[in-house]
Amino acid sequence: MKLIMLGAPGAGKGTQALRIAEKYQIPHISTGDIFRANIKNNTELGKLAKSYIDAGALVPDSLTCDLVVDRISQEDCANGYILDGFPRTIPQAEALTAALEKKDGSAIDFAINVDVPDEHIIKRMQGRRTCPGCGASYHLAYLPPKKEGVCDVCGEALILRQDDHPETVAKRLEVYHTSTQPLIDYYGKAGVLHTVDGTKDMEEVFAAIISILGD
Ligand code: AMP
Repeated sequence: MKLIMLGAPGAGKGTQALRIAEKYQIPHISTGDIFRANIKNNTELGKLAKSYIDAGALVPDSLTCDLVVDRISQEDCANGYILDGFPRTIPQAEALTAALEKKDGSAIDFAINVDVPDEHIIKRMQGRRTCPGCGASYHLAYLPPKKEGVCDVCGEALILRQDDHPETVAKRLEVYHTSTQPLIDYYGKAGVLHTVDGTKDMEEVFAAIISILGD
């Protein structure tokens, strides 16, 4: 099963993607997580990506596509995977389609669009907190950590990500509408698009996704 998640930043794609990966036992591949790990480890890729991410812009396709094509060619992806945060532009989607076609004539099976209006997104991002240690994500109102300000998983102090600051969120939404939203049409035409209402609570959204993917 090869899946991609679509939706605005903060729509809850990441949380759902992790649960889907766990249920179907497939790797969860988040380009955002890969970039953040590279930034943390101060790699060349991390240095290049950081300025774009901090500004709420997209990392150039040239740095992103090869990374993902390489990752999905690894052995653990043989039975499928879930891509979270990729593709984010039409050229990225075209590169993915071409890579799968070339590899074994396959294609993406499901594109799950988690639909949330901008007003909700802005409210949600203000409350989002992230662990700089392990990448776990929390929300002050909807998914608080057991101990205030501290990661349940690894005990590090939680932060508001630089790219979750209000000015950056506005920029990311603008980028989403211009560059990423056209993918809804792209995967609609490919016949694999399914939209779920992402304003519902996490469990309901997950149940809606499972009913699409099957048990
Ligand atoms: P995310 O955690 O998915 O919201 O990603 C955080 C940031 O990483 C985004 O705002 C982009 O700057 C960058 N990023 C992640 N995935 C991509 C992608 N597929 N193409 C370009 N930039 C990306």
